[in-house]
Amino acid sequence: MNKPIAAIDLDDVLGHFVPAFFAHHNIVYGTTFQREDIFSYDFLEVLEVSQKEVLKRVEEYANAYLLDIEPIQEAQIAIEQLYQSHELHIITARGEEFSEVTDQWLRRHFPGMFSRIHFVGHYTTYSREKSVVCDELQAVIFIDDSLRNVSGHTASDRQIFLLDAPWNQSDEMMHNVKRVFSWQEIMDSLT
Ligand SMILES: [Mg+2]
Repeated sequence: MNKPIAAIDLDDVLGHFVPAFFAHHNIVYGTTFQREDIFSYDFLEVLEVSQKEVLKRVEEYANAYLLDIEPIQEAQIAIEQLYQSHELHIITARGEEFSEVTDQWLRRHFPGMFSRIHFVGHYTTYSREKSVVCDELQAVIFIDDSLRNVSGHTASDRQIFLLDAPWNQSDEMMHNVKRVFSWQEIMDSLT
């Protein structure tokens, strides 16, 4: 029998993208951002520069350093467990242009764990919402750190987890989304 599908985000769920990007940004642009300062995933609001400039800075960073981002160790342990019982897919906001470096990074830090990577390209083309990809996959688990990506899910048999971060704070929480503070909390909720 096929295993049920779990769909998982990459950046800041499996690897520390935001801290690495801003550490680099601080060096290159002389800013002093700490993780706690990143109150929105829309970096436009954080950096207070034009959208074009935001894209340029993110692309500059991604083109040079995406392979270097640190894996989240807790995620490595959890993914190995989850792999036993689920078919694992990644749904990432990255675009297809990063498929090679993303593959390489996953082979290095999560070897053999993921059946497929779905690139939805939110930063450039806004091709598809992650909820739509989850529906296509009939994913029963979805894990992400963006409020936008955990919203819009209507499948009643899907467990949706939002990994808490400074950039996803909200006074109201969708009834079908569980805010969690660690990968361990996700694993505990599943068993
Ligand atoms: Mg993310």
